[in-house]
Amino acid sequence: MGKIDFPIVSSTSRITPALVIALSPHVLPTLPYADNALEPVISAKTISFHYGKHHKAYVDNLNKLAEGTEFAGMPLEKIITETAGKADKTPIFNNAAQAWNHAFYWRCLKPKGGGEPSSVLKKKIEASFGSLDACKKELAAAATTQFGSGWAWLVLDGDKLKVIKTGNAELPLSKKTKALLTIDVWEHAYYLDYQNKRADYVNAVLDKLINWDFAAENLG
Ligand code: FE
Repeated sequence: MGKIDFPIVSSTSRITPALVIALSPHVLPTLPYADNALEPVISAKTISFHYGKHHKAYVDNLNKLAEGTEFAGMPLEKIITETAGKADKTPIFNNAAQAWNHAFYWRCLKPKGGGEPSSVLKKKIEASFGSLDACKKELAAAATTQFGSGWAWLVLDGDKLKVIKTGNAELPLSKKTKALLTIDVWEHAYYLDYQNKRADYVNAVLDKLINWDFAAENLG
């Protein structure tokens, strides 16, 4: 299973091994750009709610749910894999997975994104989808047809790239594939800017914000 490095998601990666055994609350990672840096595609108002309220709530709820349990002080990805598919652990899974998904999502976007991936990733995309355009179309289709809340993903499955979609908090990590990119299609990601026009948000993200360099880094 691929491990994605989020040095700021879990405070355990920043403190000494002696401190790791202490209760280590998860922290809200710093946004990698200013809250208005993705305008006009995503407004500062959307970012302020999405990051400052929704993402923060997932992290805060995760810490509350983990406190005093076997999950206290456990790294984020381990909490996710330990709780995935267990009905009695759904609340902690949902909040841990959403904390991970959002930390990942922010890095999938960048001001002046879009365009073309670097040659290694581009070749892999062409081998798996035929062309970059076909890959973007498949991502857009997954993002727009996900029923209700969820995520569209570009993933590495073995040696092949694939597009998948997941509902609610579900993520590739619990499906044994490695996430390269994601688009958040919960309404909180786009409703203030696009209302019900999810496809407009998705296409604008793919054309103007998507961070292919981050996807290439995740190839490992
Ligand atoms: Fe979200």
